[in-house]
Amino acid sequence: MSNYSQITSTANLILKKYDLCDQCLGRLFSKQLRLSSNKLLGKKLHKNSTFQSKCYICKNLFCNLDHFLKLMLDSSSNYTFKTYGIGIMIKPSIVDRDDFLRSQYQLKGIDSVKSDITKELIKLFTKKTHKIMDPFDPEITFTVNLKDESCQLRSKSITIFGRYVKSKRGYSQKQKSCDNCSGKGCRICNFHGIAEFDSIEGSISKFIFKKFGGTTAKFTWIGGEDQSSLVLGTGRPFFAKIQNPLKRKTKLSNVTVNSINLSNLKLIYESPKKPLKFISTIKIAISTETLIDSEHLKKLKDLALNPIVVYEKSGKRSEKKIFQVKYKKTSKNAFTLTIWAEGGLPIKRFVIGDNVTPGISKILDTSCVCKEFDFLDIVVNDNN
Ligand SMILES: [Zn+2]
Ligand SMILES: [Zn+2]
Repeated sequence: MSNYSQITSTANLILKKYDLCDQCLGRLFSKQLRLSSNKLLGKKLHKNSTFQSKCYICKNLFCNLDHFLKLMLDSSSNYTFKTYGIGIMIKPSIVDRDDFLRSQYQLKGIDSVKSDITKELIKLFTKKTHKIMDPFDPEITFTVNLKDESCQLRSKSITIFGRYVKSKRGYSQKQKSCDNCSGKGCRICNFHGIAEFDSIEGSISKFIFKKFGGTTAKFTWIGGEDQSSLVLGTGRPFFAKIQNPLKRKTKLSNVTVNSINLSNLKLIYESPKKPLKFISTIKIAISTETLIDSEHLKKLKDLALNPIVVYEKSGKRSEKKIFQVKYKKTSKNAFTLTIWAEGGLPIKRFVIGDNVTPGISKILDTSCVCKEFDFLDIVVNDNN
C-alpha cells in the first residue's frame, strides 16, 4: 500500500468513530506527507465523508480563529511595533482529546493542537498586519487565552538617556511613590507608580509618558542633588527605563518641562549595569562659626593632595579624589568653595566633617556649615 492510501484508510477509520474538522484531520497526517496546509489535506481526506458539526478534538476552535485575531488586533491597535511574539492558553480537555486520539492511532511526530492553533494565529495576524513574528526578542508579546476569550499584551521596555539642567531651586530630584501602590502601579496612579509630577523625576516622567506612553519609568541617575541645588552646565545625565511603551521610536529634541531643560535625549539599548564614574564641578556656599582669615583659607588647596575618605553607617569606606579647588571669601564668615571632584562625595557631610575626612571644619579649625551647593557641570568618565 502506498503511503497515501495507508493514510486514507487510517483517516477513514478515525472518521468512522470521530467527527474532526479539516484542520485537525489534516494535522494528523500532514507531516508524513510533507504538506504545509493541514486544512487542504483535511478537506481532501474528508472526500468520502463530510465534517458534520463539532470537531471531536478542538470543538471547532479552528473555525473561530478570526474572533481571536480580532482580539489581537484590538489589543495592539494603540501600539507601534514591527515584531511580535505569541503564547496561547487552551482548555486542557482539548489537549487531552488530542493526545488520546494520537495514541489510539499511534500517530507520531505531528504538531500538537496547541502549536497548530498558534501557527494559524500567526499566519492570520501576519497576513493582516505584515508584522514579523519573532519568537526570541519580540517588541510586543500577546498572550491569547482561548479559554476565557481574552488577550493580554506586553510590550518590551525601552530605555532613554538624557541630561537635565535645573536652573530653578526648589525641585527635588526624586518623586515620591504613589501612596496606594508604593510605586508598583495601580489604577489610582494610572499604573505610573507616581501620582504627582512636581520633581525632576516627575517632570521627566510626564514628558516620557506623553511621548512614548507606557506605565512606569525607572530612573538611574548619575549622581544626585538637594532640592535647593541647581544643576547647570551640560546638566546631569540620567537613564530611564520605560515599561510597556506604546511607541518605540520617536524624534527626540531638546525640551523644557516645568523649567527643567532636557537635552541629549536618545533611545539606547539598556541602562548601565554598574554605576558610572563621573566628575562633578560643585560650587558650595559655606558659613563659618568664627571670622574668616583669608590666609587661613589657603589650607583648602591641600584638599587636592590626598583623597577624601568617606565612611558610611554600614561601615563601607570609599575614597573620593578632588582634582581642583577654588575659593572666594564672600563675607566675614562666609565663603564659596568650588571643587572638581569624583562623583558621589556627600557635600554636606564633607563640609561639617561628619564621617568624612578631612572635612572642611577640620581643615579650617572652625565649625562650618553648607548653606547651598550647586552643580556647575557633570562629566561622565570615558573609561566607564
Ligand atoms: Zn478541530
Ligand atoms: Zn499607584
